[in-house]
Amino acid sequence: MTQPFRLQVGGVIDRSRLLGFRFDGREYEGHPGDTLASALLANGVRVVARSFKYHRPRGIFAAGAEEPSALVRLETGGQAEPNRRPGEIVLFDGLRASSQHAWPSLAADFGALAGRVAPLLPAGFYYKTFIAPRALWAPVWEPLLRRMAGLGRAPAEPDPVRYDKRHAHCDVLVVGGGPAGAAAAIYAARKGIRTGIAAERFGGQVLDTMGIENFISVSHTEGPKLAASLEGHVRDYEVDVMNLQTAVELVPAGEAGGLHEVKLASGASLRGRTVILSPGARWRQMGVPGEDEYRNKGVAYCPHCDGPLFKGKRVAVIGGGNSGVEAAIDLAGIVAHVTLIEFDPALRADAVLQAKLRSLPNVAVVTSALTTEVLGDGQKVTGLVYTDRENGGSHDVELEGIFVQIGLVPNSEWLKGSVALSPRGEIEVDARGSTSVPGVFAAGDATTVPFKQIVIAMGEGAKASLSAFDYLIRH
Ligand code: FAD
Repeated sequence: MTQPFRLQVGGVIDRSRLLGFRFDGREYEGHPGDTLASALLANGVRVVARSFKYHRPRGIFAAGAEEPSALVRLETGGQAEPNRRPGEIVLFDGLRASSQHAWPSLAADFGALAGRVAPLLPAGFYYKTFIAPRALWAPVWEPLLRRMAGLGRAPAEPDPVRYDKRHAHCDVLVVGGGPAGAAAAIYAARKGIRTGIAAERFGGQVLDTMGIENFISVSHTEGPKLAASLEGHVRDYEVDVMNLQTAVELVPAGEAGGLHEVKLASGASLRGRTVILSPGARWRQMGVPGEDEYRNKGVAYCPHCDGPLFKGKRVAVIGGGNSGVEAAIDLAGIVAHVTLIEFDPALRADAVLQAKLRSLPNVAVVTSALTTEVLGDGQKVTGLVYTDRENGGSHDVELEGIFVQIGLVPNSEWLKGSVALSPRGEIEVDARGSTSVPGVFAAGDATTVPFKQIVIAMGEGAKASLSAFDYLIRH
């Protein structure tokens, strides 16, 4: 059996699979784990660029690390990123790259004539010739020199693909920028270790929250304000914050103490000696008209958080599982009346919870009911409509609040097959926040830790970070 070739720490070439890529318009094949440099070398391509000044052939010097002079242009998503080191570009299927400083081709390069006449030119002619008159610098000389040197035009927007270069190896790589991820990043950075945090949307669920009144020591705050404070606090430290980055795959290290890889949707890869997963969760929605429109205007998902806002009012709880029935019991002590609506013919909660629910005087239970619409006056919720599934009749309920309790879905789909998940898709963690993979930790709503709250997520994030530090000093 062929042994995988050790390219660099954390990079293993998997020769059992093929990836197609193009270089200078020609099709080649490589393998997962290849860099562009190693794949080109394996295909017999040794010259990938021409030199900056005299256009002399430049070949690959280091296939899996810093490449000093042979830079190429990476073409991703309709954008070209010049000056990438081929030894740093992790090969992916469909990768397109091209040579630089060569025209019309690498083999027959017009600029190479400069090398022929170089002995006749004054030393430093590049720098001396194209500077006068000064007024022509910006409109003529600079674009001309950039073109000759193959520097290209700098993209207006920074390209996220650059992250794999800048953030090559973190000691602690956090995925998720909610309360759990922010706490993990701060705790790691305060240990003085290299810390990076990649998040699809920094702030997480907190961004969708209006009033927060149970964040201990702060009587009242608002979600966007807390999210800004979280990011500000993280940025107080030397943390590489990579916002708007979606992780799509975790490739655990092949050996204890090795580098774990997190692949991003942009095509970039991040590597971390430890990884803390904190991708959070999302509430399952009913998907009926009015739900989105009246979110935070009467439609709520978190009874611990928003229950007190409905003191003395009428509410419905959608869902008759444990969380729905617990929410109804909890709310019954605060609000005037609770209508619990369950889709199935019977509640699915534990018998003890059902008994407690039925003992409460201000709770009505409706089963075999499908909620079809949230009603409102344009500003706030005024009621809901449900269909009786037994006789098809439609009913309106007047109320001021609706708590949707049909499940919290962990954002862990991308982790299937890499770390152990519970049947509900939560990342299984032990008391130290360790997952099934050594060196990979997890915290917050995405984990099996019960009760999904900000202070809990923060505490778990801090704990996972301390566990990661402990792991690092042992490896
Ligand atoms: P999240 O806050 O969900 O953050 C997850 C992070 O991971 C985000 O940055 C997200 O963009 C990122 N992410 C997800 N997938 C990926 C991926 N594949 N790649 C990269 N990044 C990814 N709790 C309270 O204590 N008090 C309240 O008042 C309160 N009110 C709430 C109101 C609402 C409407 C909601 C929805 C929740 C509320 N909560 C409240 C719950 C609280 O917000 C959560 O418990 C807490 O935010 C969980 O933190 P977390 O870091 O685990 O996850």
